[in-house]
Amino acid sequence: MKPRQTREIRVGNVRIGGSAPIAVQSMTATRTQDIPATIRQVELLEAAGADVIRIAIDNPKDVAALAEVRAARPNANLVVDLQENYRLAEKVAPFVSKLRYNPGHLYHLEREKPVQEKVRYLVDVARAHNCAMRIGVNAGSVDPEKVTKYDKEDSIAPMIDSALEHSRMLDDLGFDQYCVSLKDSDPNKVIDANIRFSEARPDVPLHLGVTEAGMPPDGIIKTRIAFEQLLTRGIGDTIRVSLTLPFENKGDEIKVGRAIIDDIENGRFRSVPRFEHKGLNIISCPSCSRVENEAFIELAQNVREMAQYAKQHDITIAVMGCRVNGPGETDDADLGMWCAPSYVNLKRGPLSLGQFTYDEILGRVRAELDRLIEEKKSA
Ligand code: SF4
Repeated sequence: MKPRQTREIRVGNVRIGGSAPIAVQSMTATRTQDIPATIRQVELLEAAGADVIRIAIDNPKDVAALAEVRAARPNANLVVDLQENYRLAEKVAPFVSKLRYNPGHLYHLEREKPVQEKVRYLVDVARAHNCAMRIGVNAGSVDPEKVTKYDKEDSIAPMIDSALEHSRMLDDLGFDQYCVSLKDSDPNKVIDANIRFSEARPDVPLHLGVTEAGMPPDGIIKTRIAFEQLLTRGIGDTIRVSLTLPFENKGDEIKVGRAIIDDIENGRFRSVPRFEHKGLNIISCPSCSRVENEAFIELAQNVREMAQYAKQHDITIAVMGCRVNGPGETDDADLGMWCAPSYVNLKRGPLSLGQFTYDEILGRVRAELDRLIEEKKSA
């Protein structure tokens, strides 16, 4: 592994960047407001050796739940994932060591307010509470202004532009306790995005992850391919393995992450240089507190099982847990599903095919898959 060039930041009692060991982190997948379940997941992740544990916060009830989780697990290195409601930062910062914001989500609230002002607010909050920050750019929710600036063929350019722009904003505010992530469900794009960003900003610590990698073993393979290519180049200071797993197995994300690092450090490689999309590709999110119905995990498993008859076909099926990231992250899939509390939205590319109950959806996906295969054959 090449030595890393990044500066070091501190997240609670963990150092990230520079010569610090690569930190392994994960995220709770429970509804944050389900306090016993969220505490249980934090315990599981702590027991698995997580350096950092992220919890998603969307509303004041989540903030109240976070306070209870913090009280129950005083030594956990907690960080929060802010989504649309960035103004919750001041409420959650007293309980955590890092705030993650998504530049593409800063537009949802107070649309008239300049983004620079929102970022200044976040920096002020982070400073006041000794928190680090992560600029977390996701392929499915990139700043819309950046998307329109670039050729559609280069989906990575808007992500890098957004990450660089926000890095400059934090630099201009004299805040250097931040890291960046650039995530996509395609490991090749994760590799390209992180290489390109680190060439432009070799000083900024990088959080690596393949988002919606799916279920083991495929999700582990995709993640391993990306991490092998990046960590060997000295790119990546902290990692998160995103897998669709039953709640009680969530600690496996940490174990898999540590196993990948250990293999790379000891020269045990499994990947070919590029991840070739041949045959059926199922992507699914790791679920988090926003998951709208826990039946999502079973649905993802059932879709994979049902679709095995199509494994020779170059088709991507996406299964997402909620309305926050589901609609955007399914646009590029041939067939996409995103879950609501009592129904599942089915899409073909960006087109909606309607809403179906959890009992109906598998049959509908099967019918659409058949149609897609027939169309591909006749084309
Ligand atoms: S799609 Fe929704 S439920 Fe799944 S990980 Fe993303 S935010 Fe969480």
